[in-house]
Amino acid sequence: MAQRGKLAPGMGNLFPFIELAKQLVHHHHLSATILIPNAGPPPPAQTTVLQTLPKTIKHIFLPPVDLPKDLNIVSQVVLTVTLSLPSLRHTLASLTTTTRLVALVVNLFGLDAFNIAEEFGISKYLFFPSPAIALLFSVHLPKLDETVIGEYRDLPEPVQLPSCVPVHGRDFPDPVQDRSLQGYKGLLENVKRYGSADGIILNSFMELEEGAIKALQAEELGKPPVYAVGPLIRAGSSDGLERSECLQWLDCQPSGSVVFVSFGSAGTLSHDQLNELALGLELSAQRFLWVVRSPNDKSANGAFFKAQSQDDHFSFLPKGFLERIQGRGLVLPSWAPQIEVLSHCATGGFLTHCGWNSILESIVHGVPLITWPLYAEQKMNAVMLTEGLNLALRPKSDETGLVRREEIANVVKSLMEGENGKKVRQRMERFKDVAAKVLNEEGSSRKSLSELASKWTNQKKN
Ligand code: UDP
Repeated sequence: MAQRGKLAPGMGNLFPFIELAKQLVHHHHLSATILIPNAGPPPPAQTTVLQTLPKTIKHIFLPPVDLPKDLNIVSQVVLTVTLSLPSLRHTLASLTTTTRLVALVVNLFGLDAFNIAEEFGISKYLFFPSPAIALLFSVHLPKLDETVIGEYRDLPEPVQLPSCVPVHGRDFPDPVQDRSLQGYKGLLENVKRYGSADGIILNSFMELEEGAIKALQAEELGKPPVYAVGPLIRAGSSDGLERSECLQWLDCQPSGSVVFVSFGSAGTLSHDQLNELALGLELSAQRFLWVVRSPNDKSANGAFFKAQSQDDHFSFLPKGFLERIQGRGLVLPSWAPQIEVLSHCATGGFLTHCGWNSILESIVHGVPLITWPLYAEQKMNAVMLTEGLNLALRPKSDETGLVRREEIANVVKSLMEGENGKKVRQRMERFKDVAAKVLNEEGSSRKSLSELASKWTNQKKN
């Protein structure tokens, strides 16, 4: 299940599903149908991507649902899925007349569909879109909830999940930062339901997160098996664009010289933070390619979803900035062909909001990172990348929560020219090689997916 289109929050949802389907079809001779709930007509970019898939991967847009106005993005997604359940039931009923369905795989918003899978006697799987450490955290959350008094962010010591890097409560995922909120209670209920899955498919790989994955896979009665099948990322642009301006610009830059700066499909910064970032990039004297969205109206280093920049003329950038950085920096409104940028030889670093897809894409292309987490589980991802894996540098914020221009300039310079940058670059190169192997015949992720596919194939025969 996936949501919305190219310039929409949660874009990261659809592509891993497509890649999973491709693996199952190409290597295991299964077929797949992607069911997409929507609250409006399917966005053209999404339709284009889905129409170019092989015939063995079908897609069905469930009938659009009517949503009340002014819902926040998470509520929109949740309600869209809830209101789509009747049409999901209807669609599955009609699919069973022509196909032997063996499994329903849902994302985090689709757990309610497990009941429907049961009605049809189909096994039910969760496709977890974040790293193993985040899944392990979710599995441990009910226990933390029972044992910790007060807010997690006030815990004096970091929490150590089995075989993982210790993580401070303040770096826990957003929805657990205020335990009095309904969102927290909802999450707690949801994570308890993971246990009812027949299996959990994880877009990560053993060599990247061995400790967490082994902890998840440790045999325990009633615990669903976990299959680490990543990194599942897009192979290349599905935007259908001509070779874009930014790629042509990259063509003219020296090898490994450009820092790509992007906050995912919808991350935004406050006005003050955006100002500091602009001046920090300028001060770093490095080349950069920056996907800029107009600032949000929060006062500190806030972040919230806004896929489309409200002002594509960059009037919110510091005065004279565009003139001063000409030739050395390029700014793009709202969106870049990220895979092409990361795979371009001129790209030498990536300042990222730490969305899991962006991290995997960077690893696959061997681009070292600067972490700038904004929302969801991204702070935890940043801790894992910097303190656990040593694949990234992390700028520090001051007492007001702002990351100042001097700090930004130092970290960017350090990544591109310094000793610390050299170390993370070398480590990233090693992981790039490993990531290339895990999906090969004898690779850990391929074996994990084979195990799952054999289970489904046997079910199909019975
Ligand atoms: N993406 C892109 N161009 C952009 C921003 C994002 O192609 O300008 C793609 C990116 O390659 C990734 C997805 O959108 O596949 C973002 O997923 P991620 O998990 O990193 O972050 P999210 O946007 O879901 O927070």
